[in-house]
Amino acid sequence: MNIVVCVKQVPDPNLPPQLDGNRLKRQGLAAVLDPGDEFGVEAGLQLAEANGGEVTVVSMGPPQAMEAIRKALSMGAHKGVLVSDESLVNSDALVTARVLAAAIKRNPFDLVIAGVESTDGYSGVVPGMLAALLDIPQATFAKHLEVKDSALLMHRQTEKGYDVVECPLPVLITVTAGVNEPRYPSFKGIVGAKSKPVDQLAVADLGLDPQHTQESQTVAEITEAPQRASGEIIEDDGTAAAKIADFLVRTKVI
Ligand SMILES: Cc1cc2nc3c(=O)[nH]c(=O)nc-3n(C[C@H](O)[C@H](O)[C@H](O)COP(=O)(O)OP(=O)(O)OC[C@H]3O[C@@H](n4cnc5c(N)ncnc54)[C@H](O)[C@@H]3O)c2cc1C
Repeated sequence: MNIVVCVKQVPDPNLPPQLDGNRLKRQGLAAVLDPGDEFGVEAGLQLAEANGGEVTVVSMGPPQAMEAIRKALSMGAHKGVLVSDESLVNSDALVTARVLAAAIKRNPFDLVIAGVESTDGYSGVVPGMLAALLDIPQATFAKHLEVKDSALLMHRQTEKGYDVVECPLPVLITVTAGVNEPRYPSFKGIVGAKSKPVDQLAVADLGLDPQHTQESQTVAEITEAPQRASGEIIEDDGTAAAKIADFLVRTKVI
């Protein structure tokens, strides 16, 4: 089974985010493998261990994103692909999806795994775009995963519980945080990661039309989120229950 996991290097989410104009500042900041992507890497490794096969991690990012690839390799992924190119600085979600799709299509694949959304951009649209560009179905919010009779069987998180979904392969899935317990890289894994193969590609290697790597979205403005207004306190003078019921009707809760 050829499993591809999309991974992203993000500024360390434990530190306050910094802006560079209207973009997130990345240069010179501590950066990590997106914690959400660690669940994707772990899911890929568990499926490969149970069914045989290889896990390839694919990323787009500045050259230092190689550290995120190496982290995934030290967890056990078999190989990596990093697309890095000055022309991709400021890429929007659609350009990112086009680049990832072109990088993934270079080799046969059965399953593509992505996080639900990145911890820095929070767009949540890259996996859907990627599935469309790869011309494969997408199944979102996976919790439990197994392969049965050449199909992927998954539990899809819903508000009330989960749906059991069976997907023919190839398919793209997004995994929710908490789907598994991502393993810590062992010392042997960290040393071994240094000699695992990583394809380093530029846009010219992907055969993309240069027009398709021009972003069509710009961030026009960034503003502080409004402070949360304080709640209304209802003192019980005998009418509290009615006031609460009125409030619930007004807000269409009941
Ligand atoms: C591998 C990967 C997987 C992703 N998966 C998801 C996902 O599952 N869900 C989701 O919501 N979003 C995902 N994203 C995030 C999505 O790309 C961002 O929402 C979008 O790129 C906008 O980025 P930004 O707002 O962070 O802008 P910016 O800070 O301007 O960054 C734009 C993008 O360009 C990349 N970049 C910067 N310099 C270079 C360079 N020299 N070469 C190549 N690339 C460079 C950055 O890493 C970033 O991805 C993913 C991104 C990547 C790279």
